[in-house]
Amino acid sequence: MLKEIHHNHIVRRMIETIKTLKSSSTANFPDKFFTLDEKMRCELLQETLKYISNQIPFYKTLSNFPNDENEVLNSLRMLPLLERKHVYENHNSFVNPNILPDNIQCTSGTTDLKRRMIIPRHKLEQQMCAQLEELYLLCIGKSTPLKSSNGLTLRLIPAMRRMFGSSSNTDLSITAMIDYDFPKYRTRSDYYDYIIQLLNSSYPIQGEYKRIEKLHVTPPFLIDIFTRELLDRGIHPSVFNIKKITCTGGVVSTFFRKWLKKQWNAQIICNFSHTEAKISYFECPNTPNRYHSIIGNYLEVLDTKSNQEVEDYQEGKLVVTTLFPFQFVQPFIRYFMGDYVRKIPKNCECGFIGQSIEWIGRQNHCISLECINPNLYKKMFIGTIDVYEALETENDIVQIPFPIFRLDYSPNKDMITLSIEKSLIIDDEENKKQAERISNKLFENLRMKLKLINCTSEIKIENPFYVKFFTKGSLNEPYFIGT
Ligand SMILES: [Zn+2]
Repeated sequence: MLKEIHHNHIVRRMIETIKTLKSSSTANFPDKFFTLDEKMRCELLQETLKYISNQIPFYKTLSNFPNDENEVLNSLRMLPLLERKHVYENHNSFVNPNILPDNIQCTSGTTDLKRRMIIPRHKLEQQMCAQLEELYLLCIGKSTPLKSSNGLTLRLIPAMRRMFGSSSNTDLSITAMIDYDFPKYRTRSDYYDYIIQLLNSSYPIQGEYKRIEKLHVTPPFLIDIFTRELLDRGIHPSVFNIKKITCTGGVVSTFFRKWLKKQWNAQIICNFSHTEAKISYFECPNTPNRYHSIIGNYLEVLDTKSNQEVEDYQEGKLVVTTLFPFQFVQPFIRYFMGDYVRKIPKNCECGFIGQSIEWIGRQNHCISLECINPNLYKKMFIGTIDVYEALETENDIVQIPFPIFRLDYSPNKDMITLSIEKSLIIDDEENKKQAERISNKLFENLRMKLKLINCTSEIKIENPFYVKFFTKGSLNEPYFIGT
């Protein structure tokens, strides 16, 4: 089985291309890479469809499996959409039964608290993904200050949530687990002693003694917990000379990003990833919260009702197909992981050419604006990012690691209520003004969205947002991983 994968012509070509690009030093290197991206992604998609119809039990059972070489995208679109529950219920039928268990690690990821999904990871898959990541950073590094620095990375992950930490990073890395036990997490000081010790040590690497230069944190609130612990002990985080902090497995608001940058004096990078899909999408160097996807998977942004692909700048559900050979043990085809996103045109201002999205929020934290006005707000949502942006300059709102909120639609009033946690609530005129300010910002954001999709409608639109405050800790469990 593995021999087949190694000898597959596309895989060989892929590895050769990556090698050539990495050794190339010409100025048009990113152009070459990104132009190649689209073509290769389609070829890999064709290869993936062939592979699943022959090897993956779930897809072998589908009768009349479409696999026309010239119609690869249509063939893909004929396959059923997958949700987590489908994978939970038929777990074995998504795993290639011919892959021997050597070199396979399992991780539950952050898929669900109650019913964890076991995601097999193969060493070869990990290597291929790591190569891609390195290549992307090299490309982007040519034109922006995001250039990757090779150095020792400290990986911070929660002790309770994962069976194994990720090993996809090509850099040398140390993994430390934080056992957070909300709300008592601040008492586990032995963990922080250990991490401080790691950051203060030097490690013999390639004939030199090196210190940790990068942090990779999953999910981002772990760095909040650790940073506060350092500050409480009178240690300023910048003394550790960390150059780069990469956050994955959760969204980082602009407010939190600025705060982290100030505390650590480091470059902050937030990538978007799903453990199930293996490959991260990389944050655009020019636009925060915009993510670029490279070769390893195929993205679709679909209308939540019709499941048809939406137009550029329109919003819908993100459906991911992981491409062979980046995921062959357990490939996911047209998998909806619960994220709503905005589809971004293929030419980004930063120079990237390929599939890109902007994240809006998790399904459960978003409200379709169609309820307010179906003609005007079709394919539009209000979600996590909109709320974070509206709250960004409000000092007394709980901001770190993220604002705690809830969105509700009240049909009888035709109104969307945003409930927010606030550190101190005094029922006065100031409170009323603040609620009005936030609601106006949300409304302003909505108008911008309408402009993006060229909606120059003359229809008079009224502000549908009503803001309510709650005391800290009263809305929900803030450190919840999953949906
Ligand atoms: Zn970009």
